[in-house]
Amino acid sequence: MPKLAKKSTMSLGRIFMSDCLFCKIIDGSIPSYTVYEDDKVKVFLDINPNNDGHLLVIPKEHKANLYEMDDDTLIYMLNIIREKLKSILSDKLNIDGLTISQNNDYGQEVKHFHIHVIPRYKNDKFPLASNCSKVEDVYHKLVG
Ligand code: AMP
Ligand code: ZN
Repeated sequence: MPKLAKKSTMSLGRIFMSDCLFCKIIDGSIPSYTVYEDDKVKVFLDINPNNDGHLLVIPKEHKANLYEMDDDTLIYMLNIIREKLKSILSDKLNIDGLTISQNNDYGQEVKHFHIHVIPRYKNDKFPLASNCSKVEDVYHKLVG
């Protein structure tokens, strides 16, 4: 039996990949702890965090990895981290720093481009996961 090609469709004017977990989070068919959203990006809590407040920033257009990303969207995403997420995390979680990481191909579990925004706390165990709070509790702290 030949393998079926991955299906990409246009949904509400954007590229949507039917078998992509993060596309399903964008369209709401899979729930997420979303802390920020606009017409270009969505930001939600990682369900398996390294530290409290570990966020994933994703473009609403399906792009598999860094090599498919356009410059404008990359700059836009970095600005969201610098101008919006940093202050939310500082105000609500009292973080000591931010580590940003991003995987491509090998080491990349979800093939929809995403930037990890990982709060750092003095004496945390990073890159090992610290003893994290329940994601739901962190979500309530972040969104009030
Ligand atoms: P990567 O290895 O860079 O592809 O990271 C994928 C991340 O997505 C991992 O840190 C997972 O914990 C996270 N993840 C997987 N499924 C979900 C989900 N349904 N909601 C939030 N985060 C998820
Ligand atoms: Zn996708």
